[in-house]
Amino acid sequence: MAGTPSLAQSELFPFHRGVLPVEGELLSSYLLRLAGAHSADHYRFYSTLLPRAQLWNRDIDRGSDERVAKLLVERCRLAPAVVEAMSLRSYEVAIAGPGVRKGPGRGTWINPIGVFHRTRTLAGLQVCPDCLAEQNIYQRIWRLSFVTSCPYHLSPLLVVCPGCAAPIIPHRQLAGTSICHNCHIDHLSRTRRVTELAAVPPGQQVLIDALAGRGVPTLEERIPLPELVRGVALLRRWGMFRAPLSAKGVPIESQSPFVRSVYFDLVQELAVQWPDSMGRLMVKGRISRQTFETAKPPSWLACIGQHLSPRHSLKAPQKAQKSLASWLKHLRLTKPDGWREKRASALVKAAAK
Ligand SMILES: [Zn+2]
Ligand SMILES: [Zn+2]
Repeated sequence: MAGTPSLAQSELFPFHRGVLPVEGELLSSYLLRLAGAHSADHYRFYSTLLPRAQLWNRDIDRGSDERVAKLLVERCRLAPAVVEAMSLRSYEVAIAGPGVRKGPGRGTWINPIGVFHRTRTLAGLQVCPDCLAEQNIYQRIWRLSFVTSCPYHLSPLLVVCPGCAAPIIPHRQLAGTSICHNCHIDHLSRTRRVTELAAVPPGQQVLIDALAGRGVPTLEERIPLPELVRGVALLRRWGMFRAPLSAKGVPIESQSPFVRSVYFDLVQELAVQWPDSMGRLMVKGRISRQTFETAKPPSWLACIGQHLSPRHSLKAPQKAQKSLASWLKHLRLTKPDGWREKRASALVKAAAK
């Protein structure tokens, strides 16, 4: 019939039903609100729109499903940049640098959520109950490891349900956002303004500022964030920088908010007092200048090199043995190209020491 829009056309606009992304909102949060605007169960809603798309059994906020982006661009008429801005991808680039991406579910200084089917095993999504009560959206900064307090309400973020310690899983919460899927307690509206802080932790503040591209200030220069991240990772690998009170073998992204807060305050202290803070690192130094130079450290860290012994590692012999054993184990398990030659070379070098 002339003049009657086809079903496909009528679905196009206004598909968003007035629900537009709020600045700083997570993609998953927007998808839930969009389904809610259609008075639809979000599982059925998206399985009809995007058959076979993996949404709730993936960390969709990492921005890896192009079909979701296409749906929002075509049907909600959102600009691709707006859709992209809801994912954590820009944080990954700002923190680790372009081209650096860890495996699925892992990101540098981005909390993992431990996806297991449609549930989550890790408390990677933090929330501010006050912000949720005011805006009913889940914010992107709540996934950042160095963010442990709400910058607006100056209160510690909640990482688990206070009633049962279950992770907060927006697509499983009941009654919109506030009732825990596990113990059915309305913890998010009950737990408000527990503590008021004087300010957010200094590490959080400096790193949030650095995300905007301003870098991290030192006594001499500003270090781009990816350069700071790379330097800190090297210092950790060499045993010169540790997370105090941290659970052994657990990456910093999965540590408790308290440990993360202490750790990132130390990162901030190391940076803002650099190079004066170098002395503290040298006390713990266990590497030779050769090892240091081979690792190609970022330029801000380069001044450490001149203080190291030219060839001999400061590492205790026992430690050296341990690291050789773990290197050999790594080669045996991963079998990279030329692993036999690498193994022989490591053994020859160890014997020559
Ligand atoms: Zn808040
Ligand atoms: Zn609960």
